[in-house]
Amino acid sequence: MQHYPSQLLERAIDEFAKLPGIGDKTAMRLVLHLLRQDTKAVEVFGQSIIRLRQEVKFCRHCHNISDTEVCDICANPRRDHSLICVVEDIQDVLAIENTQQYNGVYHVLGGVISPMEGIGPSDLQIASLVERVQGGEVSEVILALSPTMEGDTTNYYLYRKLSDTGVKISVIARGVAQNDQLQYTDEVTLGRAIAGRTPFAV
Ligand code: ZN
Repeated sequence: MQHYPSQLLERAIDEFAKLPGIGDKTAMRLVLHLLRQDTKAVEVFGQSIIRLRQEVKFCRHCHNISDTEVCDICANPRRDHSLICVVEDIQDVLAIENTQQYNGVYHVLGGVISPMEGIGPSDLQIASLVERVQGGEVSEVILALSPTMEGDTTNYYLYRKLSDTGVKISVIARGVAQNDQLQYTDEVTLGRAIAGRTPFAV
């Protein structure tokens, strides 16, 4: 194990190295970069992370990240509120918004069902989705989860939960390569995948 000349340095590097995709070397480079900044700039950086975690809200309808109780998308009367696109996480909302081809609203599950990782339906925002659909305003639910085994399992589970509500259930076209995460798909492909959605079939 690497021996650092300062425990403060070591602690900071350890924290950065916990972030996804950041190894020890990158962590070291980021920490040394911060050390070269003036104190004020680093304070702003630190405060923005602390405030983010403490103050951020999640929309009470769709669970998208928001500074207010209801997110901008759900609050927008020009969006089609009868169309709900179900996604895994907030990054997927951003990716779909970037296509500029979708005018409905969203529902962020917060993950997918994964017995391997111990994630069951009750760990996800599934009950609130069923409630929304039962609310009556919804005519179509678009399942836009990653084309992985976990995504498929979740699609099937949602289909079973929603099938007796009479709402139309569709799934985005698989222009997406197997095991690709939705947010890594380019905008054109993703836009086409939504436009070319098909009725969900068991
Ligand atoms: Zn919302």
